[in-house]
Amino acid sequence: MPLGLYISVPFCRTKCSYCNFASDVFSKSAYENYVARLVEDVAAWRELVSKLGCAFESAFKEPADSIYLGGGTPSILDGAQLLRIFAAVRDQFAVTTDAEVTVECAPGTLTPTLIDTLQQCGVNRVSLGVQSFVDQEAQSVGRLHKRSTVLEEIARLRQAGIDNISIDLIAGLPHQTAESWAFSVAETIATGVPHASVYMLEVDDDSRLGRELIAGGARYHAHFVPDDDATADFYQQACEMLALAGIAQYEISNFARAEELQSRHNLKYWTRRPYLGFGVDAHSMLEGTVEGRSALPVRFATPESLDAYMNRVPPTVTPVSAQTAIEESFFLGLRLNRGIDLNRMRAQFGAEFARAGSSASSPNTNCYLEGSEGPAIWDSAIRSGIEDGLLEEQGATLRLTRRGRLLSNEVFARFLTEERNKSGNQSRESTLVDR
Ligand code: SF4
Repeated sequence: MPLGLYISVPFCRTKCSYCNFASDVFSKSAYENYVARLVEDVAAWRELVSKLGCAFESAFKEPADSIYLGGGTPSILDGAQLLRIFAAVRDQFAVTTDAEVTVECAPGTLTPTLIDTLQQCGVNRVSLGVQSFVDQEAQSVGRLHKRSTVLEEIARLRQAGIDNISIDLIAGLPHQTAESWAFSVAETIATGVPHASVYMLEVDDDSRLGRELIAGGARYHAHFVPDDDATADFYQQACEMLALAGIAQYEISNFARAEELQSRHNLKYWTRRPYLGFGVDAHSMLEGTVEGRSALPVRFATPESLDAYMNRVPPTVTPVSAQTAIEESFFLGLRLNRGIDLNRMRAQFGAEFARAGSSASSPNTNCYLEGSEGPAIWDSAIRSGIEDGLLEEQGATLRLTRRGRLLSNEVFARFLTEERNKSGNQSRESTLVDR
């Protein structure tokens, strides 16, 4: 199972009002220290991994097949800093020749010099944080680019030979209307990019706009934010427009023109493949070891604050129990349009799947759950999801319906124990995969 590598760059030119990521505006002098620290961490990955009780054999015996530089705005770094990060990574890890190498870029930063640097770093995929092709909407949330900038930079990337480009859009931005949203989606399609991500505005107290909306205030254009129903309609409209244009949905928020153009890196999160992250708020999941034998995975995450990271606060480590691994397989796998194969899960988790997950008295589920005993955790989640029109089954395949994709967090919560729901573990995971 090839490894995915993630490197976080938590710096931005401005802090967008809707942003709930661990990123912020820092003086340029912080960049150099951060890059030095990153390079140090990458060089010390073996110590870290063995200290955390993870297995080397499985995740590291094959070369990594994806590198993802995210944030934040990695394209804010200068060329020499980017080159040092990639050199450190390639120095430490074997990487396949056809690896997907992605950098998240803010429109307005893709100068010819930067693109040249990206190519020297082996970057072959760029994810552009466009969010809206309507200048007023982009500006109202603190984005610094215009529609024309995005179009110029896409052309520049293509001219340089980087045509694997993804555009991010957000439904529910201030001032957005059905017409303006249709315009943004149509523009995305017209650019011909092979991949798009469509998110619905997240309203939580981790962003300035979210806090203002919760408080019912008017700062940050909060009073121009469309209501939830309108935002849900925008999302559905985007799904339909993209499908008609041949850009197929493969995950709740992600769309690609072909299977091989789906984000290899993000697929690792959703299918629980190993990945190793470096930098602020970087998450990892690796296989654990028990006295030399392979065991259940270990998740670990570096601190969310730059200060804590620079002061070497150690990562938080979460061993994944069999129960948690099954829950994760449900709520991550169901994000994908192809859904999950319950027979495969049964084979993978064996007795644990049968013991905690299903009961013999489940009249509305198919034979894949038959004959098992114990408390009905996922059994009842599946049954209620189907009854409520949020899940559909086809043989042993379980997937979200169209409505289920809109209410996915509600569906996922049903697969978690009460304890995990209280801890907010599931929503944390959603945030992780949405970045
Ligand atoms: S949305 Fe992106 S560019 Fe804006 S503040 Fe957050 S990480 Fe930075």
